[in-house]
Amino acid sequence: MSKSILIKGGRVIDPSQEIDEHTSVAIKEGKIVAIGDKAPKSADEVVDAAGMIVAPGLIDMHVHLREPGFEESETIETGTAAAAAGGFSAVACMPNTDPPLDNDAAIEFVLRQASLTAHTRVYPIGALTISRAGEELAEMGLMVRAGAIAFSDDGVGIASAAVAQRAMKYLSMFDRLYIEHCEEPSLAGKGCMNAGPTANRLGLPGIPGTAETLMVERDITLAHQAGARLHIAHVSVADAVERIRQAKKADQRISAEVCPHHLLLTEESCGTYNADFKVNPPLRSRKDVEACVEGVRDGTIDCLVTDHAPHRREDKEYEFPQAPFGMIGLEIALPLFIQALIDPEVVTWPRLIKMMSTRPAQLLGVTGGTLQVGQPADVTIIDPSHEWVIDAERFRSKSRNTPFNGREVRGKAAATLVDGEWRFRSQRLS
Ligand SMILES: [Zn+2]
Ligand SMILES: [Zn+2]
Repeated sequence: MSKSILIKGGRVIDPSQEIDEHTSVAIKEGKIVAIGDKAPKSADEVVDAAGMIVAPGLIDMHVHLREPGFEESETIETGTAAAAAGGFSAVACMPNTDPPLDNDAAIEFVLRQASLTAHTRVYPIGALTISRAGEELAEMGLMVRAGAIAFSDDGVGIASAAVAQRAMKYLSMFDRLYIEHCEEPSLAGKGCMNAGPTANRLGLPGIPGTAETLMVERDITLAHQAGARLHIAHVSVADAVERIRQAKKADQRISAEVCPHHLLLTEESCGTYNADFKVNPPLRSRKDVEACVEGVRDGTIDCLVTDHAPHRREDKEYEFPQAPFGMIGLEIALPLFIQALIDPEVVTWPRLIKMMSTRPAQLLGVTGGTLQVGQPADVTIIDPSHEWVIDAERFRSKSRNTPFNGREVRGKAAATLVDGEWRFRSQRLS
């Protein structure tokens, strides 16, 4: 029987119940048993959370765990250790593994590996098409039964409108999200950074913002017809934000997410030729960054995600055009979102917690995102004032590919509980 825990003195923020007050959270047998005055005064373990924020466990709905197939970059074990250290109690992992997660046995493999090795909850996302080739629909029904939580061919968008339409119609029977990596391939071509002044100066091929906007527009139209729940991954372009804003007025089933790098960095960083800045969708213009921030402010964007994409150092040491796309983010997302959104007062703390916990739980239809009595005790304790310098060498992730190494930040996860058990606990938490 797991022991009882009393977290006292913290600022308890639970957007699902509109709680934001300094009070206590009591945990027993893996569940939330009381909040506030009703909490018992003692427990097997009493934690002093003075100066900290106590929130429902953070959920990252866009992560690449690389297992099976790319275990040299990351495994379910190391990726979820990184997640727990970053304050996440759950992650949803993308199917671009090798072999890809395009059948029920592959989904079962991930869930079995997770039950043996993971530090957080793991929700596998199944592929929309066989081999993520964008041609034949995968057996999504079987994957739903095996535990797939949503569907995507992330890494690429579905190029064919007809295939996208069939996939949406099929998925609408299961009430699962259709998650699109919006990138029209004939426009994206062999681009390695944003089509703009930096790419022009370096003489490198660019990926125009239109490649994203066009597929966002197509998918909104198709999803509306099919009655599908469309989720736009990693929004990066001002025009795409505007299309989503307009579409949401008519269709509540559309949702969208944004990553920290698209809120903090611009294409100019790629001028350093450092491939840690190479990501897909690419870093865009200042105007695009401002539009993404505005999309968060006015609620056009629902969730904050990392798109954690680990790569071996030797792969990122290729020349910029040859290096793989992607950056890691699980251990630094929280302070980066604080820098991008809390410090400039774009959103309040309750909104930030909502976008990193309550809303992803709703969209995926999973437990969590709440501190409601009786629910599993997935809890994140955040030290919002902890100042530190990002040092990738200290990451729990197997990979080091972040352009934010050396950056001064504020705020850090102090502890992560899943089912009332400590999965991460900083020494600063007494
Ligand atoms: Zn993607
Ligand atoms: Zn991704």
